[in-house]
Amino acid sequence: MLKEQNESVRRVGCEFAFVRLAADHPKRKDVEEALGIRKAGEYGEKSITFHLGYLEGYHLILHDLRLYDGIAHFQIDTLILFPTYVLLLEVKNRSGRIIIDRQSHQMTRIKEDGTREGDADPVEQVERQSRLLGEWLMKHFSLKMPIHHLVIMSHTKCSLEFQNCEPDIHEKVIRGSSLFDAIQRVGADYRGRAWSKEALLKIGKALRDAHVEPNVDVVNRFRLKRGDFLNGVRCLGCGRYYMRRKQRAWFCLYCKQRSIDAHEQALKEYAYLISPWITNEEARFFLRVDSRHVIKRLLKRYSLEVSGIGKSVRYRIK
Ligand SMILES: [Zn+2]
Repeated sequence: MLKEQNESVRRVGCEFAFVRLAADHPKRKDVEEALGIRKAGEYGEKSITFHLGYLEGYHLILHDLRLYDGIAHFQIDTLILFPTYVLLLEVKNRSGRIIIDRQSHQMTRIKEDGTREGDADPVEQVERQSRLLGEWLMKHFSLKMPIHHLVIMSHTKCSLEFQNCEPDIHEKVIRGSSLFDAIQRVGADYRGRAWSKEALLKIGKALRDAHVEPNVDVVNRFRLKRGDFLNGVRCLGCGRYYMRRKQRAWFCLYCKQRSIDAHEQALKEYAYLISPWITNEEARFFLRVDSRHVIKRLLKRYSLEVSGIGKSVRYRIK
């Protein structure tokens, strides 16, 4: 059995933006909400990973895949490559009363306190992803693989209701606990041509290579600019941006914690939120270090690539 799991870049992006926005920044609440949704989504994915752990035979699992179809990006929660078919899973981790209406293409969630929340029809969503993935495989591989899709309601505390739905809707929208049985049933329907393990690995690798990291989305989506983010090196002990460089290490002015590499996390966040390239001057400002020589040493050690000469030297950071 082969498994692959991408780190969730979407959550990381949200997290980076969240910690770099001041407590009273007008967009902080929105970013926090996006982070909450992302965490719930990940929790849902984790819970289905548990059920997928029982699958036998060779297969390849990819999470959070984001592909470009020539016009826009489309996102797939979970994709499983089996030797005879591809399975797409759209995971919804919502509690409460969930009503899916296939005529108005709406999903309504009624929470415990009675408030209603509308969302897109998840079946329509996963049907669209299937179609786009089919076209993508055809375009890049001249490959026609059967694609099956399922919507998984992963929250244990949800009740499901269907309105204006096709008779086989119960086979399209299922609970996490039914996933294993559903895959056994679906697999039995696909007994055609079987791709070899090598071929599956090759397709899996191509999909991973084509994955487009959506990190800029947080910044673009909330229209954040360089000036919105807090400068400084964050203390892992107290979370404050009170780390100062002293004698080749970082010391927190607030809780006295010491670190030798606290700047690496700060540079990682800079690369995500602002730019993958940084100059000595920008780094001095961002890390709050006065010495050009100290920054040069830190950047030289941390960067992947250096470009330019003199004052225009830029470092590509990880
Ligand atoms: Zn501290």
